Amino acid sequence: MGFLDYAPAPESRGILTLKDAYGLFIDGEFVDGTGGTFTTISPADESPIAEIALGSDADVDAAVAAARRAHTKVWGKMSGRDRGKYLFRIARLVQERARELAVAESLDNGKPIKESRDVDVPLVAAWFFYYAGWADKLDYAGLGADPRAHGVAGQIIPWNFPLLMLAWKLAPALAAGNTVVLKPAETTPLTALIFAEILQQADLPAGVVNIVTGAGATGAALVRHPDVDKVAFTGSTAVGREIARTVAGTGKSVTLELGGKAANIVFDDAPIDQAIEGIVNGIFFNQGHVCCAGSRLLVQESIHDEVIDRLKTRLSTLRLGDPLDKNTDIGAINSAEQLERIRMLTAVGEQEGAQRWTAECAIPDKGFWFAPTVFTRVEASHRIAREEVFGPVLSVLTFRTPAEAIAKANNTPYGLSAGIWSDKGSRILAVADKLRAGVVWANTFNRFDPSSPFGGYKESGYGREGGRHGLTAYLKPALAAPKAATPIARRTRKEVTR
Ligand code: NAP
Ligand code: MG
Repeated sequence: MGFLDYAPAPESRGILTLKDAYGLFIDGEFVDGTGGTFTTISPADESPIAEIALGSDADVDAAVAAARRAHTKVWGKMSGRDRGKYLFRIARLVQERARELAVAESLDNGKPIKESRDVDVPLVAAWFFYYAGWADKLDYAGLGADPRAHGVAGQIIPWNFPLLMLAWKLAPALAAGNTVVLKPAETTPLTALIFAEILQQADLPAGVVNIVTGAGATGAALVRHPDVDKVAFTGSTAVGREIARTVAGTGKSVTLELGGKAANIVFDDAPIDQAIEGIVNGIFFNQGHVCCAGSRLLVQESIHDEVIDRLKTRLSTLRLGDPLDKNTDIGAINSAEQLERIRMLTAVGEQEGAQRWTAECAIPDKGFWFAPTVFTRVEASHRIAREEVFGPVLSVLTFRTPAEAIAKANNTPYGLSAGIWSDKGSRILAVADKLRAGVVWANTFNRFDPSSPFGGYKESGYGREGGRHGLTAYLKPALAAPKAATPIARRTRKEVTR
């Protein structure tokens, strides 16, 4: 170990009290499913963590029935104020059990503990606090007085932010008065199941939230279930398309949060040191398993060499290894399957003529790992410039003028996010205005806040999560708005009769 090396600082797994096996969470109880089980493993060393139930069609049916009963009898009748109290209670329990949730998330997903501890779990609590505040204010959601919940929401989430995606889905759905059946990703079910224990602790009425673990087929059963009123999905564009086809013509409401291939645009007047940190955060945060990752760096030609030199120097200091070590910057790739896809696409990048550079770092013997990688001389037609790698791989392109930067940034089937680095406010506003992306960050990247809407253009999907916009995805306008009643007048009447 060298003079400036870090000693290992592993977070203890001792805080976890995991079961050997987890059932499905249906109607407030953990029950054995009828579809068998599978094992969830730690991607850092491939060791088994727990046996997980594989939800069958019959299990999905039981979960939807429980959600329907809970909606009809309890949750759909409860006042917004009382629903809010449950959400506040859940938010506080997440904070109380934050360390445990962070350790479980890093164990099951492979992400560095400093990210699950400082980003994922605090945002989970923030999302519940934020939507708890909305529960008694739905008259102001922009849909007229007394908007109605859809009823039963079927929600399907990916593996890259398991607990955070759960929060993005559950918090607005519950605040709006829906009940839920949620399907976590096959490789990362653990924190959703610990979260189910939190729901029991919070005394949430049985059936309001049901968690059915399983694989793609379990998700498909949920999407086509006739008694699901609303489908919310986050994942790949391919599965999103399939879901859109399945629900077409059924009257189900649907929102899709899909992939991205974001441009991170660095102008020659940008504060370079900050831009380097922003580029690193943009693509190497969460091993690049981020739908809105800044995976395409567009750098102004005049500063290209300087930016790339500095970037390589910075990347050489990143520490790859044990996700539970507090000093780790780059954790494990979530699955063997995802690692295979990253290897395939990076090999194609080389074949197509881009120049590959990989940070030197020791790769652990077991588990799934990929060292931070940068491709220069990338052309817009290369697959690594067009397709989502969903890994720690940056593709660098250059531009000369703002118009060229905008044209290149928009030259993608996706449109989820983008970044702009410049010292000039007027340039940032002018460029942001022309980018076809749902979120544009200026002199920062990968910032999330529950009050800010997030979602895509084009093949990145439709619908928004976060903020008031995210709430409206879970509400229908009132059946017949009373004539002269403004939201405020109506609200006052309700307060008086309460
Ligand atoms: P995926 O295969 O689409 O999986 C997402 C979820 O859908 C998982 O729970 C998956 O179950 C389930 N699923 C698979 N096939 C299904 C089907 N036919 N019907 C219903 N559900 C099905 O995506 P992934 O590869 O795991 O996740 C990475 C992708 O998600 C990337 O493309 C990324 O950009 C996107 N993503 C987008 C956002 C956003 O907010 N826009 C956020 C995060 C990720 P299994 O896991 O069991 O297969
Ligand atoms: Mg796992």
